[in-house]
Amino acid sequence: MKLLLKGARVVDPASGIDGIRDVLVDGDRISRVDTSIPAEAAVGAAIVELGSSLVVVPGLIDMHVHLREPGYEHKETVATGTASAVAGGFTAVACMPNTNPVNDNASVTRFILKQAAAANLARVYPIGAVSNGSNGEHLAEIADMREAGCVAFSDDGRPVATAALMRRALEYAGMFNMPIIDHCEDRSLAGEGVAHEGFHAAQLGLRGIPAAAEDVMVDRDIVLAHATGGHVHIAHVSTAGALRAVQAGKSRGARVTCEVTPHHLTLSDERLRAPLIYDTNLKMNPPLRGTTDRDALLAGIRDGSIDVIATDHAPHHADDKRVEFDRASFGIVGLETAVSLGFDRLVHAGIIGIGRLVELFSVNPARILKVPGGRIASGDMADITILAPDLPVTVAAAAFRSKARNTPFDGWSLRGGVAATIVGGRVVFANTAVPQAAGLERRERRET
Ligand SMILES: [Zn+2]
Ligand SMILES: [Zn+2]
Repeated sequence: MKLLLKGARVVDPASGIDGIRDVLVDGDRISRVDTSIPAEAAVGAAIVELGSSLVVVPGLIDMHVHLREPGYEHKETVATGTASAVAGGFTAVACMPNTNPVNDNASVTRFILKQAAAANLARVYPIGAVSNGSNGEHLAEIADMREAGCVAFSDDGRPVATAALMRRALEYAGMFNMPIIDHCEDRSLAGEGVAHEGFHAAQLGLRGIPAAAEDVMVDRDIVLAHATGGHVHIAHVSTAGALRAVQAGKSRGARVTCEVTPHHLTLSDERLRAPLIYDTNLKMNPPLRGTTDRDALLAGIRDGSIDVIATDHAPHHADDKRVEFDRASFGIVGLETAVSLGFDRLVHAGIIGIGRLVELFSVNPARILKVPGGRIASGDMADITILAPDLPVTVAAAAFRSKARNTPFDGWSLRGGVAATIVGGRVVFANTAVPQAAGLERRERRET
C-alpha cells in the first residue's frame, strides 16, 4: 500500500515548502518528502508521474458544511455530501448541527460519525449545537459532545440570540479550548428580509436584510470573546463592517477568527437583476452584499485578516428552490465549485498566490478546529489534495456528486480545478479530465 507521487510542485506553507518534490505515501502516512526519491527507495510503491503542472497540497478542509443527515436525507446524506467533498478536493469537512434531530447530544454526534465511517470518503468532524435544539435557551451538553467527537459548537442558521447565553457558551467551550462558531445576524433587524437591504432589493421589491444586522452581532460576540477569553469564530462574514470589527478585535487581542464563502467573494447583489431576475440560486443567508462589501472581503483575503474560506455548502431539494424568491430556502451548494472559484477569481486574478490559498483552505481550518492536517511532512496522516491550476473547468450542476443542484455557478467557465483527493493514503477521487490522474484512478479502482 505504497504510493510515490513524483515531480509535482509541493506547496506547504506550514513547512515552508514551495518547489518540486517527490512524496512517498506508505499506508495511511506520508513517509518521505524529498527533492527526488528513487524507485529503489520505494519498493512496492505505485509510481505516479505528476509533473510540475500539478500542485500537491495538504488536504483541504471545509469547516462549514451542511450534510443534512439525520432528518433531511432528501436534500443530502453524509455519503453524498462527502462524495461531493472529495470531488471538490476536500479531505475533511466539519458539519453543522441543524439536522433533525439537532446534533445537540452525543448520540446524534455518534450517529453522524458512524455514517461517515460507512461512507469512508472524507473525514467528518461534527459541530455540536450551542443550545438544546438550537433554540437559544439552555446550553447543550457540550462536554458530552466533545467526548463523542465534536470539534466546535454553533447554532448556525439560528444566531445565539442572547448575549448571556453566548457569554456562557464562550466560557464553557473555552474551558476545553474549543471555538464557538456564530452565525451573526440580529433577528430584530433582519426581520423577514430575503436580500441585502439596498438599491437592488428596493428596486426589485424584495424585503431587505441590512448590513447592520450582521455588524451589531459581530461586535457583540467580539466584546464577549474579549471579556471571557473564549474563542469566537465568525461564520460567513459578508459585510465590510463585520470584517472591520474582526480586524479591530484581533488587534486588541480578542480571540476571534473568521471565514468567508466563495460566493460572497465572487458575487454581489447586482446579480439579482441579471442575467436572470429573481434567481433563487442567489438567495442565501447572509445575503449577497454590495460591491463595496465584496471588495472589502477581497482585500481581507489579500491582507491576511480573513482566516478561512468555507463554503457553507447548503444543499436543497429542487422543490425548495423552484418557488417565488420570497418563499425559497436560503443557501447554495459549494463543495464542488470552491477550488475552481478560488483559482479563477483569486489566484489567476492576481489577488493571492497558491500558498495563501492553501492557508485559507487547509492550514487555518486545521488550526482553528485543532484537527490533524494542514501540512505535508514525514509522519503526517496522508491527507493530500492534488490541484490542477490550469485545468479548464465548466461547472455542470447536473454532474455534481451532491444530491443537490442549487448553484448560481452552473455553466461558468473557470480556470483551475482538482486532479485528485487522497484521504489517509487512499485515493478517494481522481479526476478523469486530468491525464496524470489516470495512474491514480487505476489505483482507486483496485482498492475499492
Ligand atoms: Zn449560517
Ligand atoms: Zn451554514
